[in-house]
Amino acid sequence: MKKQIVVIGLGRFGSSVCKELHSLGHEIMAIDTNPDKVDALREYASFAVNADATDGNQLKSLGVRNFEHAIVAIGDDLQASVLCTLMLKELGLPKVWVKARDLQHEKILHKVGADRVIQPEKEMGIRVAHHVDSDKIVDY
Ligand code: ATP
Repeated sequence: MKKQIVVIGLGRFGSSVCKELHSLGHEIMAIDTNPDKVDALREYASFAVNADATDGNQLKSLGVRNFEHAIVAIGDDLQASVLCTLMLKELGLPKVWVKARDLQHEKILHKVGADRVIQPEKEMGIRVAHHVDSDKIVDY
């Protein structure tokens, strides 16, 4: 079933999530403060928007509250990541998944209501170790 998903932060992780969800047929709103990142994702998103996702008014006027799922892929700016997560939960989004850079960041994100926290490098490291252990080559 087609889902409406907002992807915030279009670095390597966010843009990869955005492109893959697009190829799976989902409807994406892609948001970043950097206009070049927004332009690069335009063909993979129904709406590609240059906006600050820590600004509650901007999120409201973009209609983000109508989305069922958000992926927050702002890793380095801890304050922006936490504030954005808080805003999205206050707007009532049922599923807010957030990228964290470390355990401390992860703990804070859970406290402000993140539904799932992802540490990509850590999770991928574990998967690769299991692939090596089981000699698996392809897995999604
Ligand atoms: P990655 O490791 O995924 O490549 P990165 O290191 O490129 O990430 P991050 O600092 O983690 O970059 O931020 C990811 C993206 O989030 C950047 O493109 C940045 O412009 C964007 N971003 C940062 N703050 C905000 C914000 N307040 N609103 C929207 N986008 C933001």
